Amino acid sequence: MDLGFSPEQEAFRAELRGWFEANRWRAPVVPPYTDRGLRQHLDWEHTLFDAGYAAPGWPREVGGLGCDAWEQLIYDEEYARLGLPDRINKMGLVHGGPTVLAHGTAEQRDRWLPRILRCTDIWCQGFSEPEAGSDLAALRTTGRVEGDVLVVNGQKTWTTQGIIATTMFALVRTDPEAARHRGISFVVIDLDAPGVEVRPLRQLHGHPGFAEVFFTDVEVPLINVVGALGDGWRVARTSLQLERGTARGTHARLERSVDGLARAVRESGAEPGAVQRLGRLRAWTYAYTQAAYAATDLGADAAFSSMLKLTWSRTQTAIHEAHLAALGPAAEVVDSPDELTGMRRDYWHGRAAEIFAGSTEIQLSLVAEQGLGLPREPRA
Ligand SMILES: Cc1cc2nc3c(=O)[nH]c(=O)nc-3n(C[C@H](O)[C@H](O)[C@H](O)COP(=O)(O)OP(=O)(O)OC[C@H]3O[C@@H](n4cnc5c(N)ncnc54)[C@H](O)[C@@H]3O)c2cc1C
Repeated sequence: MDLGFSPEQEAFRAELRGWFEANRWRAPVVPPYTDRGLRQHLDWEHTLFDAGYAAPGWPREVGGLGCDAWEQLIYDEEYARLGLPDRINKMGLVHGGPTVLAHGTAEQRDRWLPRILRCTDIWCQGFSEPEAGSDLAALRTTGRVEGDVLVVNGQKTWTTQGIIATTMFALVRTDPEAARHRGISFVVIDLDAPGVEVRPLRQLHGHPGFAEVFFTDVEVPLINVVGALGDGWRVARTSLQLERGTARGTHARLERSVDGLARAVRESGAEPGAVQRLGRLRAWTYAYTQAAYAATDLGADAAFSSMLKLTWSRTQTAIHEAHLAALGPAAEVVDSPDELTGMRRDYWHGRAAEIFAGSTEIQLSLVAEQGLGLPREPRA
């Protein structure tokens, strides 16, 4: 068994590293929720697209780079190593687009994928509702079939990128009589359509990255349903699995965070316990990296995906807590009272990772049920 990278893989890494280093954005990255920030992110996306680097995992025939799982991992490692900007169309590139590739028609692929790739459309995910989060099948937004349209009514919430998105992939209940997981459809909604209202939500760290989205008699063409009408739960599972999956490049981001923590500990003079804490976090991060490699090699079943999600989100919080402790009172200094920056921002952003893509408590139950065969606990 050869555990090293092949010469071809090393050459691919060197090519990417050279290109990322030569082309990366050098000005400070501005969050994409202002005109300036959005322009900056779109410029970066267009630079990636022009070089053919926008969608490493998509097949070449739809404009991707056609990477296999290891090449994708190398791409993610090099991207994370330099701390390059978050991809603003991640929901389209990593979740929505691949779901359309897996379940959509040829016409849907032709219509949507090029626009995701070029960021002509920015996609967001409309699954959660005020009464449907962990228990997603409780969703109440309805889609009534009338001729060749679905008339959508209801509300989605916690919509990441909702304020800059043009398009939402959503779950709506199209058959209220069917059992909970049936009668749900996966549909792509144009957010400029009459009857859609997007209201920004400000997050704890100050950034208005979220939205709640209201639908009042919104007419969505039936040709926007992905998969069969009423079969949306099966389609959504692909998207949810992609979201939970190996959380692309997370191991490299954790390693970068531990390096940052080591610098902070060195600079601040270690307070009691800091060095041991750092050693422990380095060990956890190393173990997580090996698990991410195993998932790349063998694939990850549902229980393994949950273990990965659980481990990276908790490790990330532990690194941020240790970093705040190392910074001491300096961590409390903020540039603006309305918007947290630096490690305080990273900490709160990281805490959210223990909620999205399935909360810590839900992952713990899934590992026990699917990994150890324990009986399923009723979900709240
Ligand atoms: C940063 C961020 C980005 C997000 N982006 C999106 C997005 O783009 N699109 C989208 O659709 N959604 C998004 N979400 C929503 C996310 O999917 C939900 O927040 C998540 O599913 C939890 O649902 P909830 O908030 O309704 O909490 P609830 O489900 O009400 O849970 C509340 C608490 O109860 C616990 N709990 C619930 N059920 C159980 C159980 N059976 N056993 C033990 N404990 C339980 C949970 O762990 C949690 O601590 C995002 C969330 C965050 C934080």
